[in-house]
Amino acid sequence: MKIICIGRNYSEHAKELGNAIPEAPILFIKPDSAHIRPGYHFYYPAFSNDVHHELELVLKIQTMGKNIPKQFAHKYYDEIGLGIDFTARDVQAELKQKGLPWEKAKAFDGSAAMGHFVTKKELGDLNAIQFHLDVNGETRQRGNSANMLNKFDYLISYISNFFTLKKGDLIFTGTPAGVGPVEIGDRLEGYIGDSKLLEVVVK
Ligand code: ZN
Repeated sequence: MKIICIGRNYSEHAKELGNAIPEAPILFIKPDSAHIRPGYHFYYPAFSNDVHHELELVLKIQTMGKNIPKQFAHKYYDEIGLGIDFTARDVQAELKQKGLPWEKAKAFDGSAAMGHFVTKKELGDLNAIQFHLDVNGETRQRGNSANMLNKFDYLISYISNFFTLKKGDLIFTGTPAGVGPVEIGDRLEGYIGDSKLLEVVVK
């Protein structure tokens, strides 16, 4: 299983980090060792002092595909959930400055915390999925799939030109604005609408 992530897919988030809006989707990958199953904790890594939460809608691939045309992309995922793309922002800033790959900041152990999935049918309009993240009961991030620069089907098609998608692969579709640091002891809860799908405690 691999995890493919999209960078800067919401313009408000690109702005908050002072980044330009990309012309094509920015892709990066997390290995299976980054994956945290629903109900498990996140352990704050020793190499960072500024780990941020990025709550994102996550697509679960249900069948293998390569070079998928956009009009068929909907057949390759049936479930959507929430995940947190934990990011060591201090490490990332240093790597970006040097023009180096982001893996140490983005793909470390436990950096992809997952919640539960719901079916597309249950969600209804995929272009109006409201989601939010509460930290210790206070809402920190709000997003809506309507504000994604690149939509799900285009992302699947685009990604599959580079990486064969396999059953069980996860696609993190980018973070809305409102990212910020987490502290040891924080309880992070992710919601789609009013349904809580994700809960992670920082240890
Ligand atoms: Zn992200």
